[in-house]
Formats: sequence, structure tokens, C-alpha cells
Amino acid sequence: MNMTKSLTILGATGSVGQATLDVVMEANARARAAGKEDSYRVIALTANRDWAGLAEQALATGASYVALGDARFGPQLEAALAGKGVAIGLGPEALVEAAARPAELVMAAIVGAAGLAPALAAAKRGATIALANKECLVCAGSVFLKAVQDGGARILPVDSEHNAIFQVLDQSDRVEKLILTASGGPFRTWSATAIAAATPEQAVAHPNWSMGQKISVDSATLMNKGLELIEAALLFGMPENKIDVLVHPQSVIHSLVAYEDGSVLAQLGAADMRIPIAHALAWPARLVTSAPRLDLAAIAKLDFELPDLERFPALNLARCALQMKGAAPTILNASNEVAVQAFLDRNVSFPEIAAIVSETMEEACRLGMDAALGDLDDVYAADEAGRSIATQNIAKRKFVSA
Ligand code: NAD
Ligand code: MG
Repeated sequence: MNMTKSLTILGATGSVGQATLDVVMEANARARAAGKEDSYRVIALTANRDWAGLAEQALATGASYVALGDARFGPQLEAALAGKGVAIGLGPEALVEAAARPAELVMAAIVGAAGLAPALAAAKRGATIALANKECLVCAGSVFLKAVQDGGARILPVDSEHNAIFQVLDQSDRVEKLILTASGGPFRTWSATAIAAATPEQAVAHPNWSMGQKISVDSATLMNKGLELIEAALLFGMPENKIDVLVHPQSVIHSLVAYEDGSVLAQLGAADMRIPIAHALAWPARLVTSAPRLDLAAIAKLDFELPDLERFPALNLARCALQMKGAAPTILNASNEVAVQAFLDRNVSFPEIAAIVSETMEEACRLGMDAALGDLDDVYAADEAGRSIATQNIAKRKFVSA
């Protein structure tokens, strides 16, 4: 029997994408050393602009198709792969083509709502989706889940908190609470005054995890936990009032499930994305990985505290969006993507990220744009509205401060 699983990685050059390839390469090396066939065969890989990284990955894995989202870098990619027998696609449609090619497993690790169309293509053809991209789930919510169901696809959560819950959730009808842990980010102990002057460099310097820029800023505002709250509600079918957030600075416990009988189950591990990635890639089996082992005696002590919603208002904005349902999470996510980019570009201050999201949500509600999501057109319309209102809000702020 052929035990090799075929795999496509969307967002292969990013932090999660590279960690996925590390897991795949290690699994294949171990299989070969044991005289067995490879555990994984890479079908397609995608990136946005990093043509050199993508070309290198294609040659290292033997992928048959690569897609680059930003077509301007196509000539460089074509030159790097000339005569190597790798098919190349350019532009957003090529990302969808990569996801549509037959691979049993698709790692969805593009950042932001840009990952939605390719993830949907994988859902429609019934792939098993290892889902790292939380934004596409948050922005398309019920529409995305319906596509998964209609296509006969399956989602395996890769986000470490959701992967932790997935590992310990056996009787979802007996659950009292899901408890998402949060590191608290780099500004957990900072005063509001210090946070107001935070730079992009300080915001992306996460204390425990090494991640892409966007999620690092989200971790600093706690919007990441807000997006994860919505992600958990969708993935596990839980109401908003049954999901708590607990700050746990050591990032050893990746989340917990409290059951009705008083039992609380948690998943623990080193803060290394290779662990949840390996879990999703191998599920329902397990892989051997060389990720660091947890040394609890050396860690000695685990701390917990409630999140400070005054200094980190983004978490409650997400909770409100989840309560409002409909397109509110779509608008939250779209405005947050725009505001985070503006912060990284030094056009707005750190606290303005949450302020812009809040203003955008208020305005979108006033305009009645938070209605229910019927289909994908509604998702794209709400996403576009959120982006355009947020962009206007940023322009107004710059005008005032200029
Ligand atoms: P990253 O910025 O390191 O990588 C993003 C990847 O997406 C890259 O391959 C990039 O080329 C590609 N990409 C970016 N913009 C694109 C576009 N417009 N079109 C097509 N491709 C595009 O991000 P990351 O940290 O690896 O995070 C990826 C996703 O996984 C995010 O949704 C994030 O929230 C989620 N996630 C990440 C981590 C982590 O530890 N990094 C943990 C949990 C969840
Ligand atoms: Mg997470």
C-alpha cells in the first residue's frame, strides 16, 4: 500500500510554510533512513514575491507546480527554474490553481484574506486542509465552512491554540468552556504611555514565538487572540460566552478545555510551530519531530492572569464582532489588515490600530454593512467595504495630525 501523502503548501515561503517544509523534509529523511518510502510528496508551492525562495523550495522538494501571487516577479522565477521541468503560474488565479491541483493535504499558510480564494478551491475539491490562515476563516465564516462541508473537505487546525483544543476535545457536548491561552505579547507589562510610542520593530519582537510580521503585530495588540476567539467559535461550534482568554506568558500550555464534570484538559509543548504542524500533517497518526522537548522542571513555574482590556482594546472589538455575527468579523478583519499595514508603514501609531478598527466597525454598522453573509459575493463586498472605510479613516487621521 502506498503510504506517501501528497501535499500542497500555500504560503510556502512564510514562517509557517517554511516550518511545514522542515517537518516534511525531516519526516522523509526518517522514512528513507528506515528503508521506507517518503512520507510526503510535494505537489505545489506558492509565494507572493519571494521568487528566489520559491524556486529553491521547488528544486529541493521536486514540486511539479509553483505559483507566485505577484506576477511582476514572474520573469525572475521563470529564469531561476528554466529547464527544470517545474510548471509556473503567476497572479492570484495561479494560487487558486495550485490549491485546485490534486493533493490530499493542503497547508493553508498564506497571510490575510488573500488566502481565502485558494483555501476555498481546496475546500471545494474535498481536500484535507491544514488551516494556519485564521483571517480567511474569520472573514468568510459560515460561507467558508459551508464550502468545506459541501466539498466533503476537512479542516485540521494548525493555529497552536486550536490545534491544542482539537487534541483534547472529545465530547464537545459536555464542554463548559474553551480556554484560549495568550502570551500577552511584547507589551504585556508596558504602561499605556509606553505602548502609545511603540515602534514596528518593538511590536514584531514577540517574546516566545517567531512568526510573520502581521501576526506578530496582532499578537502585540491582542487582536490575534480576538481573531482566534472567532476562529474557535467557528471551528468548534461554540458560542462566544463559552470561550475565555487567559494570559499565560510562558506559552507552555497552548489552550485548555474545561468539561462539565470539572475536568480540565490541556495540551502542552515547546513554543515551536513544527509541533502543531506535524500533528495536522500526520493526523490521525503522529510523526517523530526534532522540535525542542518541554523541560517542566527547568521552567519551574507557570503564570496566568486575565487580559487587560484597557491597554489592549482589540480583544473586545473581536468579541463584539463575534456577538454581532454576520459581516462584522469580516469588517473587523479587513480593517485590522489595513490598520496593521499602516502601522508597519509608520503611518499610524500602535494604539491607532484598534481605534481604526473600532471606528470602521461603527461606521460599517451605521451603513448597514454588517448584515448576514449569504454567499461569497457578500464576503468580498464586506471585506472591500471594511478596507475602504479603514483607508479613509487613516487618511483623515493623517490629515488631522499633519
Ligand atoms: P508570513 O508573513 O511569514 O508568510 C506569509 C506567506 O503568505 C508567505 O509565503 C507570503 O509569500 C504569502 N503571501 C503574503 N501575502 C500574500 C498575497 N497577497 N498573496 C499570496 N500570498 C501571499 O506569515 P506566517 O507567520 O507564516 O503566517 C501565515 C498564516 O498563518 C497567517 O494567517 C497567520 O495568522 C497564521 N499563523 C501563523 C503562525 C506562526 O507561528 N507564524 C501561528 C499561527 C497561525
Ligand atoms: Mg495562535
